[in-house]
Amino acid sequence: MDFKTFYNFMFKLTSAFEKSKCRNDFVQGLESAFAKVLQVEYIKIYTLDEFSYVLKDFEKPWENFADGVQNQKIQSILNSFVGTKENAKLEDNVIYMPIFDDTKIIGVLKLALDKKIKPDNDFFEIAQLVQKQISYAVLNFKSGEKMKLNTKFYKTIRNIAKIIETQYELSYILPILGEMIDSFIYEHLIYIFIKSKNKKEFKLVWPANIKDVKIYDYLENLSPKSGILLEREGKVGIFPLLSEQKLLGAIVACNPFDKLNENEINYLDEISKQASITIERAGEYMKILKDATLDALTGLNNRHQFALRLREETASAKRQNTPLCCIMTDIDFFKKVNDTYGHAVGDCVLKNVARTIKKELRENDIPSRYGGEEFAILLPHTTLQEAQLVAQRLRMAIEKKKINIEEYNVEGVQQLNVTISVGVSLYDKKMKDPQQLYQNADKALYQAKEAGRNRVIVYFD
Ligand code: GH3
Ligand code: MG
Ligand code: MG
Repeated sequence: MDFKTFYNFMFKLTSAFEKSKCRNDFVQGLESAFAKVLQVEYIKIYTLDEFSYVLKDFEKPWENFADGVQNQKIQSILNSFVGTKENAKLEDNVIYMPIFDDTKIIGVLKLALDKKIKPDNDFFEIAQLVQKQISYAVLNFKSGEKMKLNTKFYKTIRNIAKIIETQYELSYILPILGEMIDSFIYEHLIYIFIKSKNKKEFKLVWPANIKDVKIYDYLENLSPKSGILLEREGKVGIFPLLSEQKLLGAIVACNPFDKLNENEINYLDEISKQASITIERAGEYMKILKDATLDALTGLNNRHQFALRLREETASAKRQNTPLCCIMTDIDFFKKVNDTYGHAVGDCVLKNVARTIKKELRENDIPSRYGGEEFAILLPHTTLQEAQLVAQRLRMAIEKKKINIEEYNVEGVQQLNVTISVGVSLYDKKMKDPQQLYQNADKALYQAKEAGRNRVIVYFD
């Protein structure tokens, strides 16, 4: 091999080491370096999972090897390197080399050669020269990912602890909790169950459905003293939610193929403990805030107050025969805001939307935070036509509003825009239940969502 080819090879290799952002990139970078100089057709890296000692495809560590035969083959090659000084093996025009962590063999590098090529001494020399570097790079990737995972983990824990600064109704907290865990643990299906007080049975609260009904049987075995339960050879983990030795519910993680590893079990255990505290504290908040009228995050009326005012205003509209309208709004794609920029930015958006709503309304209008990212507004002495205009004005004001998120240090993003969908309804004296007023507005809101969002729809019978 001439110097120029060798130099090119090393250059390509170095940039694969330095520039690749993910495992896939890295292997492709290696491949392109090796392809040119040594006629390598493709490269595969297999590494042992630290906890299960199962061999994994380095590029897809979350998958099991589909091909059992391949797996056995690589495993036996790995074993054959152990305890020898041998550092390359040629079989059927494939070269295998061990990957080291210090002196321990942690994987196998596979170089599949063009069928026409007969590797010479040069080839082996070069391959061995870079073998150590490849081992280092593989280790670096692993430890870098672990660090990122840890940061993400602590962020999740902090976020779970923070949810109740803005919400204290379990019906809102639990889905947020579920989403947070889900965004952190991506290889497993996550379920949250809450134990109902009187019936003593577990109710699925997140997500909406569960296919695997066998999980209910496993939950039967959970008790305050049982600790974590592992079922199906460890593919299903059941983590109790406890408050002072009382079982509140459970977080369940399932993976159809793989066992939960030690790391994942530790993470989920910590998350369940933090979730228990959050759920317990939400209960306490609810008790304290039983008499509160305002929502802590937005300063608007809370849901409880909305229900009271709804009763008052419908009664008064009926008595005085004056028109009364209700507007229901919901922020469009709000989950995406949380997912992209984090929960704190989500909260900031909520505050801004609430402030804009308040600013656009008249003195006598009654805005409330109905829950989550939904706002309900009662408009006394207002006709449906007027209410529709107010709704349009609100929608446009929010669409225009630039929400400043500078203080949250989101890279490259200083401002956000959101839109809302709006439903409007008119009170009818004939309504038996005042609730029907907002239910109608809610139906119109649903239609506005269906019709493409960022629009106002008026409810008609
Ligand atoms: P759509 O346009 O259909 O309304 O989409 P969406 O994403 O807004 O709908 P969805 O109702 O699925 O999501 C609402 C999200 O609001 C889910 C939850 O995480 C988030 N959320 C609810 N309460 C709060 C809160 O107090 N703070 C923050 N940051 N997010 C919240
Ligand atoms: Mg919603
Ligand atoms: Mg929404």
